[in-house]
Amino acid sequence: MTTLPAGLSRPEFDRLIAAFVDALGVESVIADATRLREYRDPYTYRESDEFDAAAVVTPTTTEQVQAVVRIANRFGVHLWTISQGRNNTYGGPAPRLRGCVIVSLREMNKVVEIDDELAYAVVEPGVRWFDLYEALQASGGRLWSSIPDLGWGSVVGNSLDYGVGYSPNGDHASQLCGMEVVLPDGSVLHTGMGAATGNANWHTYPHAFGPSLEGLFKQSNFGIVTKVGVWLMRRPQRYTVCWVRFVGLDRLEHVVEALRSLMHEGVVLNLPMLNRGLEVDEHGMSVVVPGSDAWSGRFALYGRATMIDTAYAIIEEEFAGIDGVQLIRRDFDGTDHSGPSNHDERVQRGIPDMDLLDPNMLPFGADTAHLDLSPIGTARGTDTVRLQKLMDDLYSRHHRASVGGILLNKRHALHVSTTFYDPRDPAEAAAVFEAYGQMVDELAEAGYLPYRTNLQNMDRVANKFDFGGGAQLRFVETLKDAIDPNGVLAPGKSGIWPRALRQDQAVPEEKGAV
Ligand code: ADP
Repeated sequence: MTTLPAGLSRPEFDRLIAAFVDALGVESVIADATRLREYRDPYTYRESDEFDAAAVVTPTTTEQVQAVVRIANRFGVHLWTISQGRNNTYGGPAPRLRGCVIVSLREMNKVVEIDDELAYAVVEPGVRWFDLYEALQASGGRLWSSIPDLGWGSVVGNSLDYGVGYSPNGDHASQLCGMEVVLPDGSVLHTGMGAATGNANWHTYPHAFGPSLEGLFKQSNFGIVTKVGVWLMRRPQRYTVCWVRFVGLDRLEHVVEALRSLMHEGVVLNLPMLNRGLEVDEHGMSVVVPGSDAWSGRFALYGRATMIDTAYAIIEEEFAGIDGVQLIRRDFDGTDHSGPSNHDERVQRGIPDMDLLDPNMLPFGADTAHLDLSPIGTARGTDTVRLQKLMDDLYSRHHRASVGGILLNKRHALHVSTTFYDPRDPAEAAAVFEAYGQMVDELAEAGYLPYRTNLQNMDRVANKFDFGGGAQLRFVETLKDAIDPNGVLAPGKSGIWPRALRQDQAVPEEKGAV
């Protein structure tokens, strides 16, 4: 059974597909129901067609993306952009609105440029973290990229959706500089200095003349990003992985205070991750200890050997004031890319892997789904403990087991949590999403909001941003209507709906299964 875009008859749909084939070639258009199943939200109940796409197109050039957008305007159909579409906990490749045509940019996968001196790369949206790593290695390995936990996603998709990593450049959205964007009318915009034809500072100067537009294309539906500059770090002489081990929430408060202080002092430059229920053995291997209140915090030092030894001495001094805290370090030469042997060592060094999705470690093997709930708290020790206790309480009241950690920034802390379930079981999947919605409500009551969410909850989370009677959403929807009057791009992304589909924030129903 094919899902048709809303309002399109079968013959009109056939003409739409013919237009795509004409513009892109037959191998770049997927309308076959069996193949389209691969583009479902993998963590919604497997047999659900709630987020089914009508077709997938895989353009290979910016011109082809422009052609796709123009065709969508002509036929009045909606598009949903993915770069790799691998972030399964947020819907994977699936569109928010049933019947969208997915624009998959997986085939636009060139590393366009690597600038060794200024430490940036320019990438197309299909470039995965694995690809960028390989390209950097092939070009001499003098630059390192920050990476997230899983290497199969794209640099562009992850960074546009505010994904995080664990090197000094770990706030990925803020490492993007200079975008090429296809707008909803099919025209092309260069952001920042790239707005001046041929300017050499497109990927070096982060602002613009006048308002900076780049934020408009992050977690939004205002354009399709087809190329972007990504800032990288220079390979350090030495790379040292540090772990801080302790037990109990009382100590967590003090460890957070110490780490935050070290970050503000410029001693720790990357984003420390504090994982619960994990201990690290003498070989630096993480050992899961379920139900335990043992914590393993990790961070890393980058620089000349003398700098690292000095920094480590300061760190030892800082932690000496906290009872029951153990520090561990492992040193690597900056050029040693085979030495880092476990996920903690690789991920802070920018060597991508898939360890966290190892089916042998997951309760339902390769069929395991996980739903992430990740609210933001402040980086104060007391607040970190308060939010951690609230998360524990919520998961226990909703009878869900969870694992998680705290990603510390200088001023805020991202509380990453996940619960595992079997997406082949409709009752279980429904219960998990039901609990998630209630937990979002309860977190919001307590003053905490997630930084990102799944397809099911985009409207719910958007509506929590209620200051000024929803002034933010009103503002972005005014923009949406002005630049995308036909509502072609990603309706519903982050709760932003085009005028024709807005129903006082009620979730619109798209019809069209035939
Ligand atoms: P990943 O490559 O990490 O799997 P996705 O491709 O799923 O990430 O992208 C995450 C989200 O970011 C998408 O759902 C989409 O809303 C948005 N997005 C991804 N790529 C682009 C792009 N090139 N232009 C605009 N928005 C994008």
